[in-house]
Amino acid sequence: MRALVAKIALLLGVLCMAASSAVADPPTGRVTSVRFGGEGQATRIVIESDSPLQYHVFLLATGTSRVVVDLPRVRWSIGGLTTESGSGKGTGVVAGYRYAHNTATTSRLVLDLAQPATVAREFVLAGKDKDEPHRIVIDLDPVTPQVFADAATGDMGGPQPVARQVSRKPLIVIDPGHGGKDPGALSRGGVKEKDVTLAIALQVRDVLVASGRYDVALTRSTDIFIELEDRVTKARNLGADLFIALHADAGGKPTTRGASVYTLSPDGEKRIDGVSKQHDWLLDVEIDSDRPDEVNQILRDLVQRETKNQSARFASGLAEALTASGWPTLENTLRRKSLYVLLSPDTPAALLEMGFLTNDEDVTALQSEAKRQKLVAAVSHAIDTYFDNQTMMVAGR
Ligand SMILES: [Zn+2]
Repeated sequence: MRALVAKIALLLGVLCMAASSAVADPPTGRVTSVRFGGEGQATRIVIESDSPLQYHVFLLATGTSRVVVDLPRVRWSIGGLTTESGSGKGTGVVAGYRYAHNTATTSRLVLDLAQPATVAREFVLAGKDKDEPHRIVIDLDPVTPQVFADAATGDMGGPQPVARQVSRKPLIVIDPGHGGKDPGALSRGGVKEKDVTLAIALQVRDVLVASGRYDVALTRSTDIFIELEDRVTKARNLGADLFIALHADAGGKPTTRGASVYTLSPDGEKRIDGVSKQHDWLLDVEIDSDRPDEVNQILRDLVQRETKNQSARFASGLAEALTASGWPTLENTLRRKSLYVLLSPDTPAALLEMGFLTNDEDVTALQSEAKRQKLVAAVSHAIDTYFDNQTMMVAGR
């Protein structure tokens, strides 16, 4: 999967180059250089680009000490060579740096620190003419491990990218299925799917928020009816990094039980373009773009493919986590279907059918506090694994 993502990312780079030569306007958002300077241990990092870039800098203390600079999706053209990722040596407090694309819409520069340091100053310098690069300047001063640890919990500020907010914490949007006038499936004893999905969504939210790693939003937190497209639109407007719909199944034999995880089917993929146009679900690559339509379409396809890969990665991790937790799962736990809430072109998404309301054991499990906790832990574990791997994909490059 990793190799595939890298390959797609590389392809995207090649196409970006092709696109830039095909378009009259100069390309925007190209990082051309990462330089280091400074005296003694005080270290200056200068990131040069051919257009002004929104950025967000913060400290990461998990594992090794790092300074992270999040950018909107840029082209990495350091040393004149356009690549999808790369690395180099640093000086002073910076041992080295690595860069890559972080998500379909963001890129990331990671500075690995030789010793703890914090941001003493940060500012931008606009290029005076088209030959002079725009610069993001970040000054790092060495500090004690304690000061670093304290600063790493806080946000160093910096302007937020406008098109798609890059928050320091990944934003998980949980979508409890049904609600209001739509009860969803019903058990023999009258348990409503809409109540089960909401109760468990709230529990998942609490566990994720308590971990301190995520921001979490729900498409509904009360018993209200929401249209399917509004669920997706809400997640997109918030800039969701991951979308999880929760449902409970019905049907089959009364003995049929267990959870299953859905991602979009090929038929669903064919609907993405039409539904996106209908609801103005624009990708970042399409905003303020003068590219020809056919180039946009290629970029759109690539973003969708990467999103699909990420969705598949999360879904399979979720199925594994469920199995490992002992929560019952359907045979062929991983499934694909043309589901409306999974149609966002650039939000990794999966739908979890948590169990069957037509199976008495599943109903009992979904109602039992102790058993539910197993399910909730499995979901949060799968989310952790997904984002751990995503960080590694950037860090490992
Ligand atoms: Zn449902």
